Amino acid sequence: MTTPAPISIVSNEAFTEIFQSMSEGLIMVDEEGKIVISNPMADQIFGYEKNGLVGVTMEELLPHRYRKGHKSYRHTFNTDPAPRKMGVGRELLALRKNGIEFPVEISLSYTRYKNILLVMAFISDISQRKKAQEALKRSEEQLIMYAAELEKKVQLRTEALNNMVDELEKEVQERKKAVEETKKALEKERELNELKSKFVSLASHEFRTPLSTVMSSASLISQYKEKGEWDKVDRHVLRIKSSVGHLTNILNDFLSLGKLEEGKVEFQPETIELDSFFQEIEEELTTTLKEGQRIILDCQQELKTITSDGRILRNVLFNLISNASKYSPPHKNIYVRCQSGPGEISFSVADEGIGIPEHDLKHIFERFFRATNANTIQGTGLGLNIVKRYAELLGGHVSFTSQFGKGSTFTITLPINNYEKNIID
Ligand code: ADP
Repeated sequence: MTTPAPISIVSNEAFTEIFQSMSEGLIMVDEEGKIVISNPMADQIFGYEKNGLVGVTMEELLPHRYRKGHKSYRHTFNTDPAPRKMGVGRELLALRKNGIEFPVEISLSYTRYKNILLVMAFISDISQRKKAQEALKRSEEQLIMYAAELEKKVQLRTEALNNMVDELEKEVQERKKAVEETKKALEKERELNELKSKFVSLASHEFRTPLSTVMSSASLISQYKEKGEWDKVDRHVLRIKSSVGHLTNILNDFLSLGKLEEGKVEFQPETIELDSFFQEIEEELTTTLKEGQRIILDCQQELKTITSDGRILRNVLFNLISNASKYSPPHKNIYVRCQSGPGEISFSVADEGIGIPEHDLKHIFERFFRATNANTIQGTGLGLNIVKRYAELLGGHVSFTSQFGKGSTFTITLPINNYEKNIID
């Protein structure tokens, strides 16, 4: 059943009216592709005068490159005509009479009139829409570009800002550090000043006794000399020697502490020959011992050398042996032992002296501390504090045991290296 032609439903006049006033271009093409009718909009779109399209082939309305393909496309359509949209998913281009190409949208339909197939094409010139779309696309692209530029600028500024913050943080840290260092330096200076003033008051007190001993012994010596009492002269020479030794000890302690406080004591390792090292110490200290006191040395024979700072180690042992003598009565022995264990060597100084009261034990390494049973014995309370700090400087530590009234043992333990272990083996 064929669809009745619109002409049969709509009056000729009405159809003409619709055809003429359509806002889309409409052309009807016969089976050969020749335009048999066109409305004014179609004429206008393609740039022809009124009815100028009649007799023009469809291919003439296409750019040259599409014409050949279009013919076969038209044949296919004619064999199986059906209403459809042309060029879905791709851009359709048409050609104006003046040779200018322009974009179009085309819908196809068909009718049969007196058994002749007439193909209808509804054509819209979409140049304006395309231009608008392109303009939109361009502004979108520009927008994306601006956004990217903006993002880059923001990123750069953020980076600059972050750098500034980093710099500022660094500066703040540096200033904080400088303030801390200044505080520490001030604190150190305060401590040092305190130490100095304490020492001045201590020295004025501690110096008095040995100095007056020196004074009285010196004047007694001249008296005894005249009388020819040489044994008494000798005794007073010894008293002068011991007092001067005591003064020297006080000054040495103070100098050592001052250097430690100022961070001026450096660990200077050297190879120490233990035999000669102890021999020298013993020789030097024997003269300062009380009557009948003896240093008994017990050093493992296979232990020949160690690497340490000889100056510091000597100072430590001098301090410990001097204390052992000072806090022991005459005729008591002082035992100096060396012992090596895995990775370490220890030196201990044991005495048979007054010992330390239990309640004083925990304060023994504090600066200026003196045990309650040491009041009548001269001292500054600096020696053991120095010993402890020296031991730490040597990479070791000091420990002690003491029994009140019986004696004390102070031990300094130092690390030894593989080389020394080999020698021990
Ligand atoms: P000083 O001997 O000048 O007082 P130290 O720092 O050497 O200072 O010793 C601190 C205190 O420890 C001494 O005053 C003394 O009470 C106690 N002391 C140190 N060595 C011994 C020791 N071998 N026997 C008993 N007491 C000791």
